Amino acid sequence: MIKTKCSVCGKSVFRYPSEIRETEIYYCSRSCRAIAMKGNGNTNYGKHHSKEAIEKIKARRSLQVGNKGPGYKGQIVKICSIGGVR
Ligand SMILES: [Zn+2]
Repeated sequence: MIKTKCSVCGKSVFRYPSEIRETEIYYCSRSCRAIAMKGNGNTNYGKHHSKEAIEKIKARRSLQVGNKGPGYKGQIVKICSIGGVR
């Protein structure tokens, strides 16, 4: 077992060598992990879409409506009410 540190409380955490990755962050317990996920631990914390970004997202969405959407096959698939797709 290799000794690492809980990145929340600093407590020693033991991990198998196979579980060790340099970039990995370790937690001693689930509750520490939960703390890390809250607030600053969450990469989206404090970030908000700017008005510009929201407009871009809306524009992209509207492009995908109807025949411009990625699911559009160019024809209507007829579905029989009894036998399903023919
Ligand atoms: Zn901890």
